[in-house]
Amino acid sequence: MASVNEHFLELENDYLFYTISTKTNEYKKKNPEKKVINLGIGDVSLPLVPTVIKALHNVTDEMSKKETFRGYGLVQGYDFLIEKILEVEYRKRGVYLDKDEVFISAGSKGDLAGIAELLSLNNKVAITDPVYPAYRDTNIMLGRNDIVYLKATEENNFVPGMPKEHVDIIYLCSPNNPTGAVLNKEQLKQWVEYAKVNKSIILYDSVYEAFISEENIPHSIYEIEGAMDVAIEFRSFSKLAGFTGVRSSFVVVPKGVKAYTSDNKEVELNNLWRRRQSTKFGAASYITQRASEAVYSLEGQKEIKENIKFYQDNARYMKEELEKVGFAVYGGLNSPYLWVKTPNNMKSWELFDILLNKTAVVVTPGVGFGECGEGYVRITAFGSKEDTKEAVTRIKKLFSKGEV
Ligand code: PLP
Repeated sequence: MASVNEHFLELENDYLFYTISTKTNEYKKKNPEKKVINLGIGDVSLPLVPTVIKALHNVTDEMSKKETFRGYGLVQGYDFLIEKILEVEYRKRGVYLDKDEVFISAGSKGDLAGIAELLSLNNKVAITDPVYPAYRDTNIMLGRNDIVYLKATEENNFVPGMPKEHVDIIYLCSPNNPTGAVLNKEQLKQWVEYAKVNKSIILYDSVYEAFISEENIPHSIYEIEGAMDVAIEFRSFSKLAGFTGVRSSFVVVPKGVKAYTSDNKEVELNNLWRRRQSTKFGAASYITQRASEAVYSLEGQKEIKENIKFYQDNARYMKEELEKVGFAVYGGLNSPYLWVKTPNNMKSWELFDILLNKTAVVVTPGVGFGECGEGYVRITAFGSKEDTKEAVTRIKKLFSKGEV
């Protein structure tokens, strides 16, 4: 008899996006003439930039010829891409990493799930509330359920402080999904210090790094002294270059990051991650690595920055307009997400229902990201210009009438 991994049964039902789509589909059925605008999901809407498309065509040609065809790749990733990452993402910011500290893979979601396997199930984990649900769920699936929630609320500007108790693993997400908050240098310094004192490890998710627009906000945790001994960083091409369907990412595991055996011996996580990836992942595809390399060409950088600016403009526009009709709007400045407080102490789902039924606009109820998300909705700036404008016009019209 095959018995099941019962930890999967401890997961809360993944009802958030399921309920959103059920409610949306019901609405569409009842109102076939209405154009529904979805500003709920965190997926991009702009296509890949021309330089990436060109690289994809070239690499397809390479793969079609006997002389240039490539099969299995290297577990670490190809040097041509790692070199570019080191130069553009790190050396430019005064961060000096070795080539074998960067690992190319196929999406941060898998990377975040994989890294959790390297650490003992006895570890205590800190995550924020609200949170990107994958951090919590991947730990629960493994059977690690000693989780401390750090409340991110209006009172602390959605940046919770250190836990009072000792924790071993800390998930930090900056710019944050869903709140759009960012960690500044001082706050990150405190976390690095905490991790040093407690011999904890920080899992630093900065997949929205490209959206940082304010000066003096760190783009990498390694801009903080000492972080190379305590932090693993996750980056993705998904939101950087619209690769949500291409799948490309990288993880930085500095050799200074160590965890401990039960008899207190240090173990380098860099080696363990390579070992884990070679057994469970293999290697990122040559095709996606060539496409990712193109992101770092001069033209590629120019083109992706235009796309990011497009989304940033959407975010700024939505924030300004929604504030005009009295909404308290957070985020949006360094992130593609607006974290919008519901008016009149409404629950997240109440505002969701009103927006769907009265304006045909779909948002994400904040409570789906954790208890502290109650009373908020997340709106994304990833829509087209027309949809974004139209959605805001409809919402403003409804709320300026004072009926809600
Ligand atoms: N981390 C955060 C905070 C995210 O919001 C997402 C995706 O939305 C990911 C990681 C995963 O990104 P990827 O597309 O690289 O798997």
